[in-house]
Amino acid sequence: MSKTPSQAFIALGSNLENPISQIQQAFDELKQLPGTRLISHSSLYKSAPVGRLDQPDFINAVALIETHLAPHELLNALLAIEHRHGRVRESLNAPRTLDLDILLYDALQYHDAGLTLPHPRMWQRAFVLRPLIEIAPDCHIPGHGHIASLLTACNEQKLEQIKA
Ligand code: ADP
Ligand code: MG
Repeated sequence: MSKTPSQAFIALGSNLENPISQIQQAFDELKQLPGTRLISHSSLYKSAPVGRLDQPDFINAVALIETHLAPHELLNALLAIEHRHGRVRESLNAPRTLDLDILLYDALQYHDAGLTLPHPRMWQRAFVLRPLIEIAPDCHIPGHGHIASLLTACNEQKLEQIKA
């Protein structure tokens, strides 16, 4: 594997079955993906559910990896980790043991039926942007702009940083 690896930011979320340990375990599983290194991860944040309000709060974080996996290989590997955590796909915005989304894959802009990059809703979600700015303060989101101005625009979304 001599080619330069790609950099990808992964969003992690959980609101079932001990969410904090689901996320911490997922950091370890990202480390173990083939051809992949975990470079850094944010602290954990607590956020209120979006869309469907009758469910527990979420724990969220963002990780930066370097990977030789192509975008679809990475997505499939993340879906396999979700599956191992007992994730059941019930409906959009349903509670989940673990959600792993690819936020950014280098500066790639891409869309097909199974994968959209950058992640289509990331730019308007404080629970993604706050942990992301912690580990990537100069991050630019292709098609949407600089992270700091995007974060300002969703200022009213409540989010609590969990102290280690
Ligand atoms: P959400 O994360 O939006 O709550 P799901 O986790 O149920 O929804 O994902 C639904 C589908 O979204 C996945 O099966 C995947 O094919 C698709 N998808 C499209 N773009 C992405 C992306 N950037 N990261 C992760 N999944 C994505
Ligand atoms: Mg998802």
